[in-house]
Amino acid sequence: MAGTGVFADVLEGDVYKYYADGEWKKSSSGKSVAIINPMTRKTQYKVQACTQEEVNKVMESAKTAQKSWAKTPLWKRAELLHKAAAILKEHKAPIAECLVKEIAKPAKDAVTEVVRSGDLVSYTAEEGVRILGEGKFLVSDSFPGNQRTKYCLTSKIPLGVILAIPPFNYPVNLAVSKIAPALIAGNSLVLKPPTQGAVSALHMVHCFHLAGFPKGLISCVTGKGSEIGDFLTMHPGVNCISFTGGDTGIAISKKAGMIPLQMELGGKDACIVLEDADLDLVAANIIKGGFSYSGQRCTAVKVVLVMESVADLLVEKVKAKVAKLTVGAPEDDCDITPVVSESSANFIEGLVKDAKEKGATFCQEYKRDGNLIWPLLLDNVRPDMRIAWEEPFGPVLPVIRINSAEEGIHHCNASNFGLQGCVFTKDVNKAILISDAMETGTVQINSAPARGPDHFPFQGLKDSGIGSQGVTNSINMMTKIKTTVINLPTPSYTMG
Ligand code: NAP
Repeated sequence: MAGTGVFADVLEGDVYKYYADGEWKKSSSGKSVAIINPMTRKTQYKVQACTQEEVNKVMESAKTAQKSWAKTPLWKRAELLHKAAAILKEHKAPIAECLVKEIAKPAKDAVTEVVRSGDLVSYTAEEGVRILGEGKFLVSDSFPGNQRTKYCLTSKIPLGVILAIPPFNYPVNLAVSKIAPALIAGNSLVLKPPTQGAVSALHMVHCFHLAGFPKGLISCVTGKGSEIGDFLTMHPGVNCISFTGGDTGIAISKKAGMIPLQMELGGKDACIVLEDADLDLVAANIIKGGFSYSGQRCTAVKVVLVMESVADLLVEKVKAKVAKLTVGAPEDDCDITPVVSESSANFIEGLVKDAKEKGATFCQEYKRDGNLIWPLLLDNVRPDMRIAWEEPFGPVLPVIRINSAEEGIHHCNASNFGLQGCVFTKDVNKAILISDAMETGTVQINSAPARGPDHFPFQGLKDSGIGSQGVTNSINMMTKIKTTVINLPTPSYTMG
């Protein structure tokens, strides 16, 4: 159970502690932040509201710890990460329990998130050993005008202190996708978990603590992003920010100093359906892509752009599948569970009302109870409706009927987002041409958008992000190239 057994140190009274200098601590603020269970809408957990002085101390320790960590052999760093991964997987049940209570993730998906996270940590350790274990050797005479008098050795060196800020929807997985590459590359890491999801993240951090990482190398400070966020992201001790979330990331990128940024932000992933598509496959993918975790995924299908000639048939097929989705508590493993907060549910309702006023066809009756919103397919959505462009982050999916593939591509590219998209057709040539024309970081052909497998490159264009994720790209992003040039007194050529 959460906060008991091996996790007992994390909890004192009814408030979870923060993690600094290898210890679980109470904040001197004497204040806590409540985490509301989306299902019951009552306080489920409380975490420390850390102070700016505590952030300063964490940054100092992170800087000191990083210097000796960078001197720790690569194989040893990998060994510790493998250990943390095993501990994380061993304790999947209590961590999944927190995910269920804090963010209403269906029970089975919650377990999957923890297991996937353990796998991600292990994979990163292996990949790090491979790619950080080699550099480049260049000779000067390949550039015009030079003799072979210079040998250049390049290697990848750590950046220093990495600040990691994940979002509520994958508080464990999107935290380890930053922690593991940072650590294998010789950096230290400061985590600021999302408030909804903080207790799951604290339990995950405890698994790293149990694995025996040096003091100060990993820290976890809790508190509301709106209160300590700016102090963290503008802190002079931070050498790199890896952030996943919504528009907050755009504001952070404007405020951050001259440091590398990895930003994975929102999306409005379009699903373009051509006339020759396998409509059963499309319907299954729209359900999985649009409604899993109640649509609260960055890569959820967020708008369907279907050719008019097959639209009636597709809508009927999707409608039939929507009717089978179970709605209710995450503990019961329902397909549709409450969205994360009341403000989120209100925002979604605003989009639904706007679509109603402007004449969208409701395939189901709109129904809401607290934060629970029943799955809703909106047909005949037009570009003047907000739902055509905005990210609901809930179980509401708009369908726009199109008369050509170009119309679909145009809608996709007119969005300020450019995360992923997908196209359904049996014609591979058309699929490639459409994929090339879509201004998104990834296009899936004949499947719904997805972030995984976690070693695939993952990136957003436009307001969807800066840089690229995926195990290899994240390791590279959290390093810098260092070169050492050996200058010879005379040209030297090997004879062979
Ligand atoms: P969010 O509101 O932007 O919050 C993300 C994180 O930022 C949370 O940890 C939040 O902490 C923190 N934060 C808030 N204000 C801050 C500030 N001023 N400075 C620094 N940090 C601050 O996003 P969310 O609601 O958690 O997640 C949903 C969004 O994430 C969606 O837009 C979704 O598309 C996007 N997302 C993108 C990806 C991707 O890889 N592209 C993946 C998943 C989700 P608090 O919780 O304490 O406010």
